[in-house]
Amino acid sequence: MKAEGCHCCPLGSSRKKVVFGGVDGTRDIAAELMIIGEAPGAEEDSEGKPFLGAAGQILDGLLAEAGLSRKSAYITNVVKCRPIKQRENHPPTNRSPASTEIAACWNYLESQIALVRPRVIVALGATAVARLLGPGSQVGVNRGQGHSHGTIPVVATYHPSPLSLNRQPGRKVMIGKDLALAKSLLG
Ligand code: URA
Repeated sequence: MKAEGCHCCPLGSSRKKVVFGGVDGTRDIAAELMIIGEAPGAEEDSEGKPFLGAAGQILDGLLAEAGLSRKSAYITNVVKCRPIKQRENHPPTNRSPASTEIAACWNYLESQIALVRPRVIVALGATAVARLLGPGSQVGVNRGQGHSHGTIPVVATYHPSPLSLNRQPGRKVMIGKDLALAKSLLG
């Protein structure tokens, strides 16, 4: 796969694995629902699969509560390699992707959307929402409204990550409502 040898940005030199995305941890593309997160973290970087860590577990629970299954969704991220912040005498930590890294991965995400042709896209968090709805688009302003990427409806919602750290618990209900909207759009 082309992305595996990608060095379009410096993350190509620090990653362990490219986390390209797919259905149920495979490269399968048959899915009606596409879920787009921000970028891989440490676990995802080691395994090459998206949403494996605590945020992934929260996401699984929220999807199940909305009557959606992770197993039948195509899950990916805006950026396919882990963005890291180096720290002296400590392992690197995660950071949000830079605009140059998002731009370097732009065509991969567009190709995935074109190949999968999902019926609904869920954009999880600020990075995915700005990437799909345009720079400066905020989750709080755009959730619960009708948006689209080309002809594909996009549901904007918060990222589950803070919930896994017991932060912003009130967002659980909001994400749940947004996923219910995605479910209703799927019919
Ligand atoms: N894991 C991912 O794959 N993506 C995120 O956005 C967060 C955790």
